[in-house]
Amino acid sequence: MDRLTTDILVVGSGPAGSTVAKYAAEKGVQVTFIERRHEVGVPVRCGEFLPDVDEIRTMFPLADDLEGTFDLPSEMKLVETDRIRLVNPKNKATDIPMNGYTIDRDRYDQYLADEAIRSGATLIKDCLFKNIDGNKAITTQGEIEYKVIIGADGPGSRVARSLGLQRNHRPYPAVTAQAKGDFDPIVVMYFGGIAPGAYSWIIPKKGQANVGVGFSPKFADGTLSEYFDKFAKKNNFDIITKIEGKHVPSEGPIPKTVSGNGMVVGDAAGHVISVNGGGIPLARIAGRICGNIAADNIVSGRPLQDYEVEWRRVMEKPLKTAAFNKKLADTFAFSGPEWMVTMCMGILGKRRMNNLIRCKRIFP
Ligand SMILES: Cc1cc2nc3c(=O)[nH]c(=O)nc-3n(C[C@H](O)[C@H](O)[C@H](O)COP(=O)(O)OP(=O)(O)OC[C@H]3O[C@@H](n4cnc5c(N)ncnc54)[C@H](O)[C@@H]3O)c2cc1C
Repeated sequence: MDRLTTDILVVGSGPAGSTVAKYAAEKGVQVTFIERRHEVGVPVRCGEFLPDVDEIRTMFPLADDLEGTFDLPSEMKLVETDRIRLVNPKNKATDIPMNGYTIDRDRYDQYLADEAIRSGATLIKDCLFKNIDGNKAITTQGEIEYKVIIGADGPGSRVARSLGLQRNHRPYPAVTAQAKGDFDPIVVMYFGGIAPGAYSWIIPKKGQANVGVGFSPKFADGTLSEYFDKFAKKNNFDIITKIEGKHVPSEGPIPKTVSGNGMVVGDAAGHVISVNGGGIPLARIAGRICGNIAADNIVSGRPLQDYEVEWRRVMEKPLKTAAFNKKLADTFAFSGPEWMVTMCMGILGKRRMNNLIRCKRIFP
């Protein structure tokens, strides 16, 4: 490929990019999505847990067509879970009801990319976006001329930077690997010195579990791999894959997600629940809105600014509440010794921890 033209160029084939590409292509416009990796979804850098559609609805009741957006063949759901167990530093567990399931994230991303391709979008792999020059994207495979560009290129978005948009501040590093064995069908999160400022997790899959650690560098006194090793040793994990890491946006949405004929979506836009790092549902809800509006822009001149208005209407309040709750946790629980985490979890109790996880206010 030396030179290509397209109506809509989407950078990234994660959940956000493939969802944008699918919904835009369904409206009959020309959509190209590019991916720097050789294989979509590989390597996996994710906890691989998704809340089910009714849970997503309780968090984002204004989102349209959640059933359609999150429709997934049942064989892709590995283990169904009905609660999240929050464990304090003294090993006291509190179970919060939460229906969900686990996935193989590589297969999940590949499924979403295939759906976009089936809808008419063209995927180019091994293609790294570098910069924008006028209405052309400069990539490692040549120039791509576009009418609308969408950055779905993750937390360190180069597209956001090229569009003059703010990038995520202070994203948290997190690492993950697969551990062999039989695990209870419960998502477990451990808080305290084991993962300062965030949590470590065990998320059950078939015959194995996704295990990982996220932390806030400002509260930690070692490297993330040291924390991971400690967690793995403590639980006697039989780690069967390479440890993979990535950053997680931690401060909620960026101030502006549209600039000229460009938009950003998913992690690139800070569409992540700050208190737990969950981002796949948001990438898909915002991706659907973004794809529809980008296509309407091509077909009938609908302003791209509508995207900014619409995703904020649907997602901004819960995301800002989660970001606020995360700040409270940083200030009152994570900034001091471990007993403060124990004390704060005690004060919150089950009801408020339930609110916390569901992006709701914890105090009136
Ligand atoms: C360790 C960890 C565990 C997590 N666990 C969960 C979980 O259990 N559940 C959950 O809901 N969320 C989880 N998240 C968050 C979730 O993974 C993200 O919110 C989600 O992947 C966001 O999707 P996205 O499409 O915006 O970005 P990404 O999934 O990051 O996709 C971006 C894509 O763009 C490509 N790309 C980047 N730059 C370029 C470029 N310059 N040119 C071309 N392509 C490019 C990347 O290769 C990638 O494929 C976790 C995150 C981490 C780090």
